[in-house]
Amino acid sequence: MIKKIDHIGVAVKDLNKAIELYEGLLGLKVTDTEIVEEQKVKVAFLPTGDSEVELLESTSPDGPVARYIEKNGEGIQHVAFRVENLEARLAELKAKGVRLIDEKPRRGAGGARIAFLHPQSTLGTLIELCER
Ligand code: ZN
Repeated sequence: MIKKIDHIGVAVKDLNKAIELYEGLLGLKVTDTEIVEEQKVKVAFLPTGDSEVELLESTSPDGPVARYIEKNGEGIQHVAFRVENLEARLAELKAKGVRLIDEKPRRGAGGARIAFLHPQSTLGTLIELCER
């Protein structure tokens, strides 16, 4: 089912400050930034070999990333796994009793089709399935 880790989503308060840190400290390079209106986030992608770090800054105080930071502080917010045929994967998981945040794929950053699984079904980790 899982092809690889597509990206790790990191919630940050200040995207520019986070980019400075990841570029300055770790030598990563931002290849793209984007605003995803539906999720109320500004996103920066930093490729790391075959996967990416996705830095996420909320564009609104009521966005999911803002709420995450309010509750947990900054840090890793989700792990995204690359899959093929996302609809079929979601149907399989639903049949296994997994609680889905997204019953249908939605549009994510970078033109990906994504869906989140509820952390209640995944031992507390927010898991994103991502099809490109
Ligand atoms: Zn993501």
